[in-house]
Amino acid sequence: MTTQELIHILLIDDDEDDFVLTRNLLAKAVVFRFELDWASTYEDGIQAIIQDKHDLYLVDYRLGKQSGVEILKESILSGCQKPIIMLTGQGDIDVDLEAMKSGAADYLNKRSLNSELLERSIRYAIGRKQAELALQTANKNLQELVIIDALTQIANRRRFDEYLTQQWKILQREHRSLSLIMCDIDFFKAYNDTYGHQKGDVCLHTVAQTIQNYVNRPGDLVARYGGEEFAAILPTTDMKGAFYVAEQMRLAVQALQIQHEKSLVDQFVTLSLGVAEIIPRLDQPTELLIERADKALYIAKQQGRNQVLAYYDSKDEYCTIK
Ligand code: GH3
Ligand code: MG
Ligand code: MG
Repeated sequence: MTTQELIHILLIDDDEDDFVLTRNLLAKAVVFRFELDWASTYEDGIQAIIQDKHDLYLVDYRLGKQSGVEILKESILSGCQKPIIMLTGQGDIDVDLEAMKSGAADYLNKRSLNSELLERSIRYAIGRKQAELALQTANKNLQELVIIDALTQIANRRRFDEYLTQQWKILQREHRSLSLIMCDIDFFKAYNDTYGHQKGDVCLHTVAQTIQNYVNRPGDLVARYGGEEFAAILPTTDMKGAFYVAEQMRLAVQALQIQHEKSLVDQFVTLSLGVAEIIPRLDQPTELLIERADKALYIAKQQGRNQVLAYYDSKDEYCTIK
């Protein structure tokens, strides 16, 4: 908001005299220039708020059968991010408090209103709203920082743990499958030793983003589990589906053709993956699913890496699906 910026205001008031009066007061403003539009009914006011073409709303407390507080509540529910200042014909502390509780930026008595007071109230209301929105953005960024891994830009371990617990509870109620894929880059220590830690970091980022592209459903979550290990949580997905996703991930990473001359299994960077499926029970810990997928991953490593192995609950054995 800079000096002499044009501020668009809408007055929602059923009295035309008040519109003329308000326009005259705003014309005398010294810091800002104002353009005042007018809506004379509740319905027109709400429509204009939804269209969101103004910087601020001045709303009369008495609007025919409805009250300005109703407009306030409705506009907040419809996602209005602009400040609303309530106007009234007489000073009434109850109305004042009600307006404030409902989210009004200010409450002004029309009888004691002058140009300076009105201008200052508008200026403060807009300034406060801008600060509030900036804070909301900062908070959102902060929340993302807490759950996103900085290097790979996918979910971090904290988010993984939270999400697995949450899905465990949901799916045990619904008696539906929860699948987990654990992946680990093959011979990654050798990759770092050969190409340097920085190239290692770039490789981790590329692999993470590639894996992330291979989960399709909105409920799927790919996270960095630790170091060069990733995990994918696939709610309401059975073993066959999870195995298919894991194999797609393996092929996609291999297809990146990231040179890895010290790998003993391929000339490029590859992944080993373990898959497990469970219908969760509340008397079992989430670790059970992690252990099974981890065990499958361990055996995939032992059996030659660059492959997907699945754990079968019913048979208590590990095998590939071909
Ligand atoms: P395997 O095929 O059995 O998985 O062998 P590996 O070398 O991949 O496994 P190991 O656990 O011995 O080594 C993992 C390596 O991952 C060691 C570590 O330096 C590297 N690593 C872990 N986190 C990072 C990271 O954030 N950046 C980089 N550049 N390297 C990492
Ligand atoms: Mg590892
Ligand atoms: Mg590894």
